[in-house]
Amino acid sequence: MCALTAGQRGLRVLVLDHANKAGKKILMSGGGRCNFTNTGASPANFVSANKHFCKSALARYTPWHFIALVERHRIAYHEKELGQLFCDDSSKQIVAMLLAECAHAGVEIRTHCTIERVEHTDAGHYRLHTPQGHFASAALVVASGGLSIPSMGASGFGYQLAKQFGQHVLPTRAGLVPLTLSGKHAERLQDLAGVSLPVEATCNGVSFRNFMLITHRGISGPSILQISSYWQPGDDLRLDLLPGIDGAQQLADWQRTRRDTELKTVLGEVLPKRFAQRLCEHWMTNKPLRQYTPAELHAIAELLAAWPLIASGSEGYRTAEVTLGGVDTDGLSSSTLQSKTIPGLYFIGEVVDVTGWLGGYNFQWAWASGHAAGMAIGG
Ligand SMILES: Cc1cc2nc3c(=O)[nH]c(=O)nc-3n(C[C@H](O)[C@H](O)[C@H](O)COP(=O)(O)OP(=O)(O)OC[C@H]3O[C@@H](n4cnc5c(N)ncnc54)[C@H](O)[C@@H]3O)c2cc1C
Repeated sequence: MCALTAGQRGLRVLVLDHANKAGKKILMSGGGRCNFTNTGASPANFVSANKHFCKSALARYTPWHFIALVERHRIAYHEKELGQLFCDDSSKQIVAMLLAECAHAGVEIRTHCTIERVEHTDAGHYRLHTPQGHFASAALVVASGGLSIPSMGASGFGYQLAKQFGQHVLPTRAGLVPLTLSGKHAERLQDLAGVSLPVEATCNGVSFRNFMLITHRGISGPSILQISSYWQPGDDLRLDLLPGIDGAQQLADWQRTRRDTELKTVLGEVLPKRFAQRLCEHWMTNKPLRQYTPAELHAIAELLAAWPLIASGSEGYRTAEVTLGGVDTDGLSSSTLQSKTIPGLYFIGEVVDVTGWLGGYNFQWAWASGHAAGMAIGG
């Protein structure tokens, strides 16, 4: 996006990538259909040490700009849920679109090109040393992404480069990632792998309502992936197992109308049966509803509304969709993404400490920040 924007402005642009082809993360994204944007994208959907930083770029390149580009290339798309737009056919179409725009703008792309060293010469030029030769330029844009999925070409190169040029880098960690369970929690849930249920996951004052999936190693599904970006080991994670339902009222109604029915049976009507049984085995006592005291029912309602699940860790960069943290936005201009201290040096996309929620927000940040830098270079 940055290359094609700068190229359209008449600049001579060279893209270097060590991978064997461009846009590999786009290709694998959205289950092969690329969730390329979210119509509701706003600064509130991003995690960053400075929540205001992303505003300028997002305001100047909106989801509608990208949708217009997609439509101009006659790529069919659909909304899945919550404003998430996916290709009808394949994410290959998004890569092909970007490559076609780059070709049209005269951008040269070299793949299989490892950058061995970068120098900033006295003349103010960037000199890149690669096995394919040396390249010099007045501006250098670092768009090397985060650490997620190393097998796809992810590397810490952008962070190293930032440090080389004196840019501060905030600690990184995996985001949008399944959480792992250990000990008692793992033993109690492991054999329920595959069971999924709607929950509202809350951590550090942030909540996401969507499905949770129990896996062999822990928990996943959209609600857990979302909350993982707000969770760190030791943080209190709570799950509302009956989101949108007043548990206390529901239990009182059941006690009145189904006096002889056991708790696990009624819970099995609103939760997956095996999960309800497991809850009653380990987290609450199971008996006919008439036998519960008001205090016991109150405690059960509280547990159902804020079930404490102690995650031991995350699956890490191997499966994470994004990397939280990265190049500190304090050292960058929010309107151009240029370093505040080193002229001509830009950082865009995931390498920057701006991380989106699940649902097309990360690509929107990549497009918007790329566009902002592409418009600013040489200006
Ligand atoms: C499985 C998966 C699915 C995803 N699905 C979605 C989705 O549907 N919607 C969404 O919004 N987001 C999704 N994301 C997140 C999204 O892919 C990223 O946030 C986005 O690609 C970031 O763009 P970027 O250009 O900053 O970095 P990247 O797309 O990661 O690109 C970085 C590029 O830099 C190259 N590079 C890295 N190191 C070097 C080096 N040392 N030398 C030369 N080149 C280097 C890499 O080869 C790569 O081509 C997904 C991520 C994953 C892992």
